[in-house]
Amino acid sequence: MKVPIKNILYLLIFFYSSELFSAEIINLRFGSDAQKNRVVIDLSDDTSFSSKVFEDKVNIKFNEKIILKYDLKKNDQLTKLNFLKKTNELSLTFKRKIHAPNIYLLKKKKNKFSRIVIDYLREREKQKIIIIDPGHGGKDSGAVGLMKQLEKNVTLEVALLLEKKFAKHKKLKVVLTRNKDQFLKLRQRTRIAKVNNADLFISLHADYHKNKRTRGISLYTLSEKASDKEAAALARRENRSDLIGSVDLSTETSEVTNILIDLTKRETLNQSSHLVNFMIKEFKNDMNLLQRTHRFAGFAVLKSLDIPSVLIEMGYLSNKEDSKLLANKNYQNKIADDIVKAVRNYFNWKEKNNS
Ligand SMILES: [Zn+2]
Repeated sequence: MKVPIKNILYLLIFFYSSELFSAEIINLRFGSDAQKNRVVIDLSDDTSFSSKVFEDKVNIKFNEKIILKYDLKKNDQLTKLNFLKKTNELSLTFKRKIHAPNIYLLKKKKNKFSRIVIDYLREREKQKIIIIDPGHGGKDSGAVGLMKQLEKNVTLEVALLLEKKFAKHKKLKVVLTRNKDQFLKLRQRTRIAKVNNADLFISLHADYHKNKRTRGISLYTLSEKASDKEAAALARRENRSDLIGSVDLSTETSEVTNILIDLTKRETLNQSSHLVNFMIKEFKNDMNLLQRTHRFAGFAVLKSLDIPSVLIEMGYLSNKEDSKLLANKNYQNKIADDIVKAVRNYFNWKEKNNS
């Protein structure tokens, strides 16, 4: 049978043109203003598509064949970018949940690309709550310095500086356990952390030693032993209405409870150590550090099993140099600046590690 040459030509043109008219993804661009973020997909030609939105994901399914010749670059709005050649789908995974997405095509104009625009509102970032706990207060004056200064006043002075300095950072919010000369029980201090749903707990102290030459900053986190004891006590408690790590233990079996407590406790100790490392990094530059700067103890204020907690001994009131420094505004400012920097670095690191 003879096929008319004309038909073959038609067929060829059809195949050829379907390749010709498929669009190419040229580029991915990003923009943002105060309220919304934007992702723009530049295409060589107008194309029809459908889109599906999940919590943190947008899938664009093109109705015509799409070509992608070069790898697309993503910015920090996205954690993943995937092009599925088989199904003609581009899938974008965002760092955070996206809200009120608006996805539309801007048709090609002279010398311009055709554009698919994805506008969306950012999820409002939750402020991080940092509890600053000036040690002692009221009838409990703490250590008395060589220059007659009281530990409770030194700790309050630095705490008030920290409150002021943290106020400049919108993502961080400070809650003080006390902002005046007031007596607080130790458990009241951790209670304040709990009711505020704190992300960090930092207790401020100044140490005293019979050896007057001992000086420098030291940092304490909860010892493994003390944390085990605390975890056991929590697990034993008849009324398990305690919430740890936003897990309600009251509905779990005791085996599950123990596992959850253990996991939370471990993670919290880890996080506390990370924070200490960030602090030492800052203090190292302009402060005297006690040997073995990171120490472990069973201090009651460190016993929140689900809130990373650090106790800072800012120096020795029993040492002449430290005692002078602790009363010095300049030194207090330096300590406070270092703490703010360390906390910011800690949260940045945490965000990058998605934990
Ligand atoms: Zn103290």
